[in-house]
Amino acid sequence: MLDYVGGEARRRLRDFEAHIQAAYPLFIGFPGSVDFSYQELYPLFNYLLNNVGDPYIEPLHALHSAPMEREVVEFFADMFRAPKDDRWGYVTSGGTEGNLYSLYVARELMPKAVVLYSDAAHYSIPKATYLLRQKTRVVRTRKTGEMNYADLTKKMAAHAGKQVIVVATIGTTMTEAKDNVTTIRDAGRKAGVSGMYIHSDAALAGIPTALLEPRWPFDFADGADSISISGHKFIGSPMPCGVVIVRGHNRELVRRPAEYTGSPDITITGSRNGHAPIFLWYAIQRWGIEGFRGRAQRSLELAAYAHAELQRIGWPAWRNPNTLTVMLASPARELIYKWQLATYEGWSHLICMPGVTRERVDAFIADLTKQP
Ligand SMILES: *Cc1c(COP(=O)(O)O)cnc(C)c1O
Repeated sequence: MLDYVGGEARRRLRDFEAHIQAAYPLFIGFPGSVDFSYQELYPLFNYLLNNVGDPYIEPLHALHSAPMEREVVEFFADMFRAPKDDRWGYVTSGGTEGNLYSLYVARELMPKAVVLYSDAAHYSIPKATYLLRQKTRVVRTRKTGEMNYADLTKKMAAHAGKQVIVVATIGTTMTEAKDNVTTIRDAGRKAGVSGMYIHSDAALAGIPTALLEPRWPFDFADGADSISISGHKFIGSPMPCGVVIVRGHNRELVRRPAEYTGSPDITITGSRNGHAPIFLWYAIQRWGIEGFRGRAQRSLELAAYAHAELQRIGWPAWRNPNTLTVMLASPARELIYKWQLATYEGWSHLICMPGVTRERVDAFIADLTKQP
């Protein structure tokens, strides 16, 4: 055993691990898969890996995982049907960075365009538009959390003859509702806008949505110009990460010279996590498309089961079609904390991410039935 730190520090570490371990089985209210195992990668933590710059142009130093990062980007570019000859992307620090990057590219393309997003969009969207000093309009949603397209059309019509940027949320934070990119395109035509950039914020549900039938329109073939996903949600990874894919030629809008690193400054941050791409690469090797599809199907089945169980005990509950998220009337405070349930305006949700088991759902239902 190494003795870099003393017994007290070591005890702190053990206590901390025990604390996380205890919370793990009760993690059903936030979207992170916890069924991963990356033990084979542990030796790599003995090395610095810095993927600074463009993953397609390797930096001068050797301590990077750019080849694996490119494979990860290509895998998701294929999944999201990005044009073979016009695609680019990188592994981000999470869904937020992918949203910021996409809106940065969109602003460079359409500097004066208003950004429209729904009131159920993730908080990273208004943050990004604030940082980028973009004008914004918030579009109303239906009860399900999906965009109200009549309101979208009306708000776009105020910009007839001009370019607009629209953020489609593919899996809203509370209800996992999806905005329809085909309908958004049609609304733009109806409203008479002169050009549109559509960003799909698919942080939560991009992967299951791409793999499950019936297909929901949200990807490049459906008319999106960029897509951002989180890596620590459906896939699962020990550290937050994500992937952003854009139409290849658009990245030129934000390219800055390489300076001394040997690779252009074309991402949001300078130094970038070189381990995260390896985790995603490893998950791709392990699961592949069919493995991911199986994971998504099992999660859907479990969500349907949880919904049915809530109905069986007479607990108010509902669920959008084909989602891993089940909405339920908020239980007592102590259960909200015990089960770490995201809660808003009297409603909570559980998310059947891979790693949530039927036994967990049963234990949760049993707790609800015991509630006075
Ligand atoms: C989680 C999420 C984000 C933010 O992703 P992070 O990885 O937490 O930065 C953005 N949009 C949606 C819809 C999300 O679910």
